[in-house]
Amino acid sequence: MFQKDLLKWYDKNARPLIFREKKEAYSIWISEIMAQQTRIEAMLPYYKRFIQKYPDIQSLSQADDDDLTKLWQGLGYYNRVRNMKKCAIDCMERYQGKLPKTKAELKKLPGIGDYTAGAIASIAYDEKVSAVDGNVIRVFSRLYNITEDVKQTKVRKKIEQLVEASLADPVSRYNQALMELGALVCIPKNPRCAACPIQKDCKAYLEGDPSKLPVQPKKKERRKEDKTYYVLVCKDKIHLVQRPKTGLLSGLYGFDEQKPEHIVKQVELKEHIHVFSHVEWIMKGYLCEVDSMSENFYSIDQIHEQFSIPSAFLPFLKQTERYIKENQICQKL
Ligand code: SF4
Repeated sequence: MFQKDLLKWYDKNARPLIFREKKEAYSIWISEIMAQQTRIEAMLPYYKRFIQKYPDIQSLSQADDDDLTKLWQGLGYYNRVRNMKKCAIDCMERYQGKLPKTKAELKKLPGIGDYTAGAIASIAYDEKVSAVDGNVIRVFSRLYNITEDVKQTKVRKKIEQLVEASLADPVSRYNQALMELGALVCIPKNPRCAACPIQKDCKAYLEGDPSKLPVQPKKKERRKEDKTYYVLVCKDKIHLVQRPKTGLLSGLYGFDEQKPEHIVKQVELKEHIHVFSHVEWIMKGYLCEVDSMSENFYSIDQIHEQFSIPSAFLPFLKQTERYIKENQICQKL
């Protein structure tokens, strides 16, 4: 069986990651949610900042919403961090400020799905449960040469059962070893089979074609939407608008969708496309100099310190910053 070889490989090859240093549910939870957004290397600076500001469930439960989204800026899927706060509040009220210890209980909390619950319960509390994410699905679809569409419920269930049946002690290390194998060796394109510790048990390697697995349905084409934004500038200040409470980028800060009435000067900004998971925004922008400031105009420093500007709006913000700086230099000459 492959488990022994996998664990031996993990002992030698596990990356020294800061959130693995102690088996602690809070840090595992934060790191697992962040790892769903981006590569481990890219998430580490976010993780360090987050843990520094919110070192425990209590501090997270009392977090200011704007501070929280500001820390998350650049990771995307802002609902995840909002759910983390809701989850922290639930833990304060129902579990004395701790995350519960079983996968079944963890799954009942906001924003904690089957995978995250399994990861926390097995890694922090040694509960013998699986943690099946995209990496593990890929490894098992290859290990058992599963050539059906892994997005189908019955195929996914079959893989989950195979993972459950394979669980080995210590489960905390076994689950992490599977994740690490998927991240470092059994990678999506060009899997490194020659360096794989479980090659001799891998059906796709022996009988099939690992690079064709897992089988997934063709992705639907993303919907395209045209968007126009007006970046209002008065002297060295920029107008920000908080987005509605629902919908894409809800509650975050962006620019005006209405053209202002009294424009002193208008400059066309460079168009760009922002890609979300299911939709693409084709974004046109205009910098509009106005001569009077109403509420919600802020300096560039204030914006960087206090507000969470989603990456969809950053190209317009950067161009506006440049424009303001160049204008200030011209005024001084
Ligand atoms: Fe993945 Fe190749 Fe290892 Fe099979 S042999 S588990 S396909 S890396």
